[in-house]
Amino acid sequence: MTQAPFWGPDFQALDAEDPEIAGILLSELDRLRSGLQLIASENYTSPAVLAALGSTLSNKYAEGYPGRRYYGGCAEVDKAENIGIERAKQLFGAEHANLQPHSGASANIAVYGAFVKPGEKVLAMSLPHGGHLTHGSAVNFSGKWFDVISYGVRQDTELIDYDQVRDLARQHRPKMIICGATAYPRLIDFAAFREIADEVDAKLMVDAAHFIGLVAGKAIPSPVPYADVVSFTTHKVLRGPRGGMIVCREEHAKAIDKAVFPMMQGGPLMHAVAAKAVALKEAATPAYQDYAAQVVANSKALAEGLAEEGMRPVSGGTDTHLSLLDLQPLGVTGAEAEERSDAAGITLNKNAIPYDPQKPMIGSGIRVGTACVTTQGMGPVEMKEISTLIGRAIRTESPAEAAAIRQDVSGLVSKFPAYPR
Ligand SMILES: *Cc1c(COP(=O)(O)O)cnc(C)c1O
Repeated sequence: MTQAPFWGPDFQALDAEDPEIAGILLSELDRLRSGLQLIASENYTSPAVLAALGSTLSNKYAEGYPGRRYYGGCAEVDKAENIGIERAKQLFGAEHANLQPHSGASANIAVYGAFVKPGEKVLAMSLPHGGHLTHGSAVNFSGKWFDVISYGVRQDTELIDYDQVRDLARQHRPKMIICGATAYPRLIDFAAFREIADEVDAKLMVDAAHFIGLVAGKAIPSPVPYADVVSFTTHKVLRGPRGGMIVCREEHAKAIDKAVFPMMQGGPLMHAVAAKAVALKEAATPAYQDYAAQVVANSKALAEGLAEEGMRPVSGGTDTHLSLLDLQPLGVTGAEAEERSDAAGITLNKNAIPYDPQKPMIGSGIRVGTACVTTQGMGPVEMKEISTLIGRAIRTESPAEAAAIRQDVSGLVSKFPAYPR
């Protein structure tokens, strides 16, 4: 324990100087305390992570890496980054780790930068089937600068079509193959992807943004032994600060580090790097492993509950923290469901389902995740209750019924407060 006074997050100072922004911070806290947060990519970081984020490490310029900086005065931040790197290597059983990417998308730009040149071929999952924007969307750098070929899921099983992946790989011989998704509820067969990548001599990148927290908590298998590189966000199930990270084999360490800095970024956000180190320490505890297992158990319970409410779980269910529900049996679109849930104090997102007849801005489905509600301490009994609330919210257009549901939501969340007072 340090006895020195700590110049840390000081809400009173903010409130005195800028009540407008201070008020927004308070009302956002109220928003997340008073409703149900089911966005699959969100979570609630610990007070310890928030303290590191709100620290004077934000002031420090530290271009470069520990021991090799372009600025003086880096002794303290070097320690924080080294601790974080060691924790990441330990937690994921990885040979190398880079904690500097500002976000998941930034981490992915770096991986492309390390392995592919503009115009070269990459094979990745298509966005409408669950892939991410950075996996080749025409409006993203990936689709603009690289020749991205897309694979998808089978229409009958809604599972990744590994035969299609192999056929496309043989036909196009991509430099890099990407697996990992943003709206795919099932486990991915990393060994199958490794075999395909080896056959065509491609690098294998696993974008584990969504599920890396479940890997950290040993709730699902790790991609690390199979991938050349694993990129991910630190703020989803992993429950760290908003940011990105990359782990890779030692043979790629130099290429990845050079691609993050100086190819893609300037100075790292050292407050975020320190906060990532804190989150990695938390994720290595038995309590976090219990959390990760509970996230998956809750996710299965929620998908089953929503199926009982008449929604169809895409692929028949889930193995992870998220599920995708087809609302066509209820005659409601994803956009309508999102809006009606919002009116009832339930935050979730509309989502395209595979082979969706609707436009992306409408969508036939919703995506729900259990990272937040599990952090709040909820279990399968509450998942059942949440399914009923969502079912009621989605079916009604009545403002009075929405208000009644909001009351029930409020009753439920008051028993499991996020950031207890
Ligand atoms: C969330 C996500 C990202 C991007 O993360 P940002 O921090 O929002 O840039 C990248 N890939 C996948 C698969 C994701 O789910």
